[in-house]
This record gives sequence, structure tokens and C-alpha cells, in this order.
Amino acid sequence: MSTTKKRRELLIFEMEKLGNQGINCQGCLGTCCTSLANSMQISPIEAFDMLYFLKSEGRLTGDLKKKLNDCVEKYRLNYEISTTRGLPLRRSYTCPFFEPGPKGCTIDKYSKPYGCLGFNPQEKNATGGASCFSKKEILQKRVEEFELLELELIKEYKIDWAKKSIPLALLNLWHLV
Ligand code: SF4
Ligand code: SF4
Repeated sequence: MSTTKKRRELLIFEMEKLGNQGINCQGCLGTCCTSLANSMQISPIEAFDMLYFLKSEGRLTGDLKKKLNDCVEKYRLNYEISTTRGLPLRRSYTCPFFEPGPKGCTIDKYSKPYGCLGFNPQEKNATGGASCFSKKEILQKRVEEFELLELELIKEYKIDWAKKSIPLALLNLWHLV
């Protein structure tokens, strides 16, 4: 099994378990991918996974780069503001990989950010996100299993950031893929 699949195995298992109970996102407009509720931040290794997936699909184009830059500009994702607790403010944005309608997310499940896979509805006919949440223990278990591998990669590439919004993270590592 490839490492991208292995690192997502737990999350996909949980998502499919819910799906087998008839709990899925099919009736929702995709609220958690839009600026209504999305402030997803990803690590460098998640950004590499997305970039390699996009490359394999021939989607690393000038148009995509422009779309990512437009998203950064529109939602001011490159302006860092600290909260009163000293943590960087997570800005909301509509994900550039979200297509309204039946398609929804255009990233394969084996390359999708962990946080996106982990955020799921918990009841049937969910819509709008009211009944959706991440099971922290599953995300934490994944971190414990793969943290060392991910830290090694960050060190190898001399990357000096831990997490960024999806468009900023991809633009930052684009030249390495
Ligand atoms: S990567 Fe996919 S699931 Fe995650 S925020 Fe973007 S469109 Fe939504
Ligand atoms: S996780 Fe919730 S908010 Fe996101 S698309 Fe599914 S049902 Fe909608």
C-alpha cells in the first residue's frame, strides 16, 4: 500500500463505516468546503500529497496557480493576525478545489487533507454542517502513528512552517514537485 493511502487508512475506514450506515454528504451543498465554514490548514506532507496527485492528473497548470493566488488574495490568506491567545487567526475561505454540485471535492480521497477526511456528518440526511464534526481521537491516533515520518520529510526539505491554508501551502511547495 502506498504511503499516501496508509497515512489515510484510519480516516477512510471511519468515513466508510459511516457511509455503510447511510451517513454521508450526498444531501449537503458542501458547506464545510466554502467560506461559510472552511478554514482548513494543512501540513507540508499533505501539500505534497495534493501536488503529486494534481501533477498525475495534469492539473498543475498556470490556470490552477492563478486560481490559488486569486483565493489567497480574495480571502487575505497571507495576512497573519494573532488572536488574543497568541495563535495565528485561521481565516475562512472557499477551497479552490471545491466544485458546487454533485462533484464537490475534486481531490482523490487518498490525497485529500486529513482534516477534510476526518470531518464527517454523524447522522443521516445531514446538511449544512450542524451535525458534522471530527473525531479527535482518530485524528490524534493518525498523528501518533505517522508524526516521525512527516517530521523527517519537513527536515529533508528544510521547510520552516508547520501548517498553512491549502492554497498557500500548495503555492509554497509548487516549485519542488
Ligand atoms: S480539499 Fe476537498 S474536502 Fe478539503 S476543503 Fe477542499 S474541496 Fe473541501
Ligand atoms: S461534512 Fe457536513 S458540512 Fe461537510 S459536506 Fe458533509 S454534510 Fe456538508
